[in-house]
Amino acid sequence: MSDEYDVTIIGAGPVGLFAAFYAGMRNLKTLVLEALPRPGGQITALYPEKYIYDVGGFPAILGRDLVTELYKQAGQFGADFKFNERVESLEMLEPGHLKLTTTEAAYSSKTVIIAAGIGAFQPNRLNVAGAAELEGKGVSYVVREREKFLGRRLLVIGGGDTAVDWSLELRNWASEVTLIHRLDYFEAHQRSVIALYDSQVNVHTQNELVGISGKDAVERAVIRDNVTGDERTLDVDDILVCIGFRADLGPISQWGLNLEGRKVSVNRQAETSMPGVYAIGDIAYPQDGVSMNLIAYGFGQATLAVGHASHFIHPKERVTHGHSSQRKGMKYAPTPGSAQS
Ligand SMILES: Cc1cc2nc3c(=O)[nH]c(=O)nc-3n(C[C@H](O)[C@H](O)[C@H](O)COP(=O)(O)OP(=O)(O)OC[C@H]3O[C@@H](n4cnc5c(N)ncnc54)[C@H](O)[C@@H]3O)c2cc1C
Repeated sequence: MSDEYDVTIIGAGPVGLFAAFYAGMRNLKTLVLEALPRPGGQITALYPEKYIYDVGGFPAILGRDLVTELYKQAGQFGADFKFNERVESLEMLEPGHLKLTTTEAAYSSKTVIIAAGIGAFQPNRLNVAGAAELEGKGVSYVVREREKFLGRRLLVIGGGDTAVDWSLELRNWASEVTLIHRLDYFEAHQRSVIALYDSQVNVHTQNELVGISGKDAVERAVIRDNVTGDERTLDVDDILVCIGFRADLGPISQWGLNLEGRKVSVNRQAETSMPGVYAIGDIAYPQDGVSMNLIAYGFGQATLAVGHASHFIHPKERVTHGHSSQRKGMKYAPTPGSAQS
């Protein structure tokens, strides 16, 4: 089949983008199918303006900037990208020949790498008085522009990395930041928690939001101390809610793959229960390893899956291959003599 791709990557999140780059390194004819209109997955949808500190090579990089660089890197070998196309079904016609049907078209591919993250996702909504009415009028679940918080009084809700990172970052923009969390400890990187307690953020653990009020926009929040039961009112302009996400695997759960909860089980080769179909990034559940929802970890899985996909298509080829300086024709390679001393 001349229009058959060597590898089709489902999902253009950070891990899918890096897999597309790596597939290009292996000279594989590559297709990337993405349900959303833009690349970047969770980064683009949920935290484009947050700094990321734990990706190699960048001491700190804005989410949107990382996506721009990954997309640039992924596209340099001519991979085809199709946005606004959700993959609805995946069938194995025979080993080495797979059919993918999206909301728009059908494609054939020798191998598939599923990098669908947490599937279709949306933030958990607050279930307190006033939250639904004032959503978009001061109550938000995603930060799209940090500038929006300039000079305003912000209340952040949550106890994970997202709540802690945003409290620290938005302290540079808001006039006042208060963070409340219902437990007595934070489930965030230790360094960030230390930085939080060293910062000017007002931190109140074992406190919970019980109500929000305001005429046309947020004006006040009522919080309850879970130890004493006392309630008090804070004057605030914005409430940023960071209490996790709900994910739905969507059609992927119907493809006959072995699943582990809401993840796809993979073996040491990053291969699923369907031959020639691999899973990487947040969606993958390594049966004999650990599952880590981190971009850096997903990058490693991408190199592994692409190596095995390449070997699956061309059994004489090695799973591993040389490093990138052995690859000719890199679009962004510096010209001779331009390397910095
Ligand atoms: C608020 C927040 C902050 C975070 N901060 C960090 C951080 O600082 N450092 C870090 O390492 N990690 C961080 N993470 C985790 C990190 O974002 C994820 O580990 C990473 O996005 C996983 O990448 P992925 O490509 O596997 O999946 P995703 O980013 O989820 O991308 C998957 C893509 O697949 C698409 N898709 C799903 N199903 C289909 C389908 N059927 N057809 C077509 N497309 C489909 C989705 O639309 C999505 O675009 C954070 C996560 C959140 C929520």
